[in-house]
Amino acid sequence: MKTSIVWLRRDLRLSNNPALHRALSNSERVILLYIHAPQESAPWQPGAASRWWLHHSLIGLQQSVEKRGGQLLIHRGPTISTLLHLCQKLNAGAVYWNKAYTPEEINLEQDLSDQLAEHHIQHHTFHGSLLHPPGSILNKEGNPYRVFTAFWNASQRLQLQHTMFPAPQRLFDCELESEPLDALELLPMIGWDTGLRQHWQPGEKYALRQLERLCDELVNDYTRQRDYPAINGTARLSPHLAFGEITPQQIIETLRNSFMSGAVHGGASEAMIRQLGWREFAYHTLYHFPQSTQQVLNRRFEHFPWQNAPSLLEAWQKGRTGIPIIDAGMRELWYSGWMHNRVRMIVASFLCKNGLVPWQEGARWFWDTLVDADLAINSLNWQWVAGTGLDAAPYFRIFNPITQSHKFDADGRYIRRWLPELTSLPNKHIHAPWLAPASVLQACKLNIGIDYPEPALDLKETRKQALACFKGSQAIHKGKVLDINP
Ligand code: FAD
Repeated sequence: MKTSIVWLRRDLRLSNNPALHRALSNSERVILLYIHAPQESAPWQPGAASRWWLHHSLIGLQQSVEKRGGQLLIHRGPTISTLLHLCQKLNAGAVYWNKAYTPEEINLEQDLSDQLAEHHIQHHTFHGSLLHPPGSILNKEGNPYRVFTAFWNASQRLQLQHTMFPAPQRLFDCELESEPLDALELLPMIGWDTGLRQHWQPGEKYALRQLERLCDELVNDYTRQRDYPAINGTARLSPHLAFGEITPQQIIETLRNSFMSGAVHGGASEAMIRQLGWREFAYHTLYHFPQSTQQVLNRRFEHFPWQNAPSLLEAWQKGRTGIPIIDAGMRELWYSGWMHNRVRMIVASFLCKNGLVPWQEGARWFWDTLVDADLAINSLNWQWVAGTGLDAAPYFRIFNPITQSHKFDADGRYIRRWLPELTSLPNKHIHAPWLAPASVLQACKLNIGIDYPEPALDLKETRKQALACFKGSQAIHKGKVLDINP
């Protein structure tokens, strides 16, 4: 019997899965396999929130596979020896997978391909998670784009590879024992995951349900609402995308169908699609600049005077900086494993511009706490906010958290949701409670420094200091843009 293995990683879905589709067309028996080998992605082993998601996503996938008469084999790594061993046991002649694009995954795939060839086992790889394979969008000189808009325009000129594959009706069982999922020890030992359970339902089924909700209820107001963190007005698809429970093609196709049927207006769906463009840009950038997860992309900032500020970093992580919009965001992250994009930008700017803390520290914390932690996207965005990236926010763009808070959370709804100690403050004072008159604080029974911290930093002074440091870095290189060569 012609048996093949489909090796699954961050493509935990049955529909629109090119590797699975092709394996099923070419084989008489197809075995689905997940190998848990976190040490192989070092230094980027999945963080705690990602592990939580993974556990539940695998349960969802197991259920969908079993409903179709199949079995999802789960094993612990190392990946290559496990795959070779299973190929032998199952008498499998081919391995199929969808490509992943972190530097560690690219190296692993190369080694795996070599080993499979040595053992006369075929392998077939597919592009399943991006609109266009990284490396395929280059400028006229054949170099990677450094500016998002130019990249996105070029990407849109290309034909979308848009074949949709339905989930298979029937899958296969195999006689081999699988590891019990609990043996992977993905769930936390102490139960800090209540908030995650309240906010999320991992798995392909829920990804597709959220996409439906997006088209039915959200997308028409997307451009109007997406910047307001108190409103549930964004796609909330990022963790589903990070685990490959859904693909950008599926999102685009569904949005465009909704547009064709008149349910969604074009501006709204294109605005959402453009956001997916940033995801693409992040992956293409990481592909060309694999060191960008740790090193600045713009060499002007190689000797930037970042500061070691452990107590500020800890206050930021715990949501105890004394600046409500920052603390609300950081507590949303800690409790729910997610943070609104607008607030991500504000907290990141505060940490690495006002606080001069290296962006890598913030990126690490996000990596551990986000359910949507994604190496390419996280690195690109941190470098963007820090001003050290390719298409970065200019160094003089330092978000003022209080102004941002007034603008995007005017009635303090978001702040009150995450900072119950500030609930009784009037809207006027909720954005900067340390500036409220003593009579107001007294009436609200709020003691600044006791019930809620004093601000950890002077926003005006630190802004000036940051500008001086960033200007200094500019001057060192006489304003030349010295990017790392691809
Ligand atoms: P929407 O805002 O509705 O957007 C739809 C989709 O577009 C998202 O699901 C995502 O896939 C993509 N997208 C949106 N904004 C961006 C962006 N700025 N960059 C790349 N893709 C984008 N997103 C992650 O998925 N993983 C991360 O680890 C991550 N780290 C971030 C770190 C910082 C400092 C910042 C500022 C942003 C980060 N983002 C990250 C991007 C963004 O905040 C999230 O993708 C978004 O908040 C997810 O919410 P949503 O699904 O409701 O997306």
